[in-house]
Amino acid sequence: MVTRLLRLTLLGALATTALCGSHAWETKLQEPADTRPLPVDAAGYAIKDPSREHQFRKRWIGLRTDSTESLWPEKTISYCYSTSEAKDKLAKFIKQATMLWHQAGLHKDVYKYKEVANPGGSCTGYSNRANTLVINVRTDKPYMDSTVGLPLLNARDTEYKGPTMNLDYENARFAWTARGQAVVATIAHEFGHAWGLYHEHQNRYFWNAPVSFANGVIFGDKFDCAAIPGYMEVLQKAIADGNGDERLLCVSKRMADKYNFTAGQWLPWRTFKSKNSYYAGQSYDDVDWESIMLYGSSDGSATGTPILLRNDGQSFQSNFRPSLGDVEGIRTLYEPANSFSGGFPVLPNSSKSPFYTKFINMFKKNKGC
Ligand SMILES: [Zn+2]
Repeated sequence: MVTRLLRLTLLGALATTALCGSHAWETKLQEPADTRPLPVDAAGYAIKDPSREHQFRKRWIGLRTDSTESLWPEKTISYCYSTSEAKDKLAKFIKQATMLWHQAGLHKDVYKYKEVANPGGSCTGYSNRANTLVINVRTDKPYMDSTVGLPLLNARDTEYKGPTMNLDYENARFAWTARGQAVVATIAHEFGHAWGLYHEHQNRYFWNAPVSFANGVIFGDKFDCAAIPGYMEVLQKAIADGNGDERLLCVSKRMADKYNFTAGQWLPWRTFKSKNSYYAGQSYDDVDWESIMLYGSSDGSATGTPILLRNDGQSFQSNFRPSLGDVEGIRTLYEPANSFSGGFPVLPNSSKSPFYTKFINMFKKNKGC
């Protein structure tokens, strides 16, 4: 899941080559209660439902970039498949997953996906490999992962050739079942990473000490790190290394990543971009519990018991479609001039806009010109 993070620990600048995992591995997947698509307006944006209005208080977290080069140019993910099998097995699920983003409000004519090379050697050896997402069928591990955004090539990480998404074919085979719905949702989660989002629960302003000194009140008291697969092995290795690392395995994302321990998918990032970054999570309402980038409490548990509960003991579920907050996060990364802090703008061609009549009349007036 985080194959290169040993180097990341040593060289903090390599953060962009991190692979982010998903909630698909060995989880008890539950059928979503409601998978109806959100209604969209004439401009293709989700129509705001007052009951979901609170979404705009939530804070997505995403890649913090010093340069737009680590986001996809032209708001277009260029991709190809590493093998013909990958394309045969995954293309329809990927289409469904990207459709979930569109239905949630990510405009399909603005946020695009472009297959730039044929499957196989044309893809993996593609001349612009560094700027192309290669989609692999994963057979080695029972989970999916993706690089975040468009990581830049880095001379200190010679293994890194370009962005990669590993999807689990064994899971994809179930894609027409309820479990399969979760697979499509998981692929949508991976595309959230590919666009540049991190996990919702990895916002350090939500966590309390000693994991974070940001004085968050939402997570930290009930984080059962020992329920994460591989905990005992990693603990023993850290003790054997004799550096005292074991004290930080369940506290520091960097340390967890150093040992390829998946606690690094729960523990908070130190740096990221977000709305109101410097504001500690002081209320459970600050978390986007509907985010597709959120793990459920028991997702990935080795023991079946929850890994992460809220500090008040309540559990929470992962989600099967992107939230408005997720869409807002991607749009803010790619459209920084419009942070939409008060929600999405109402465009003049929407019937909800006060300028709608004027806008339509303008067209009528110009008819025949
Ligand atoms: Zn993930």
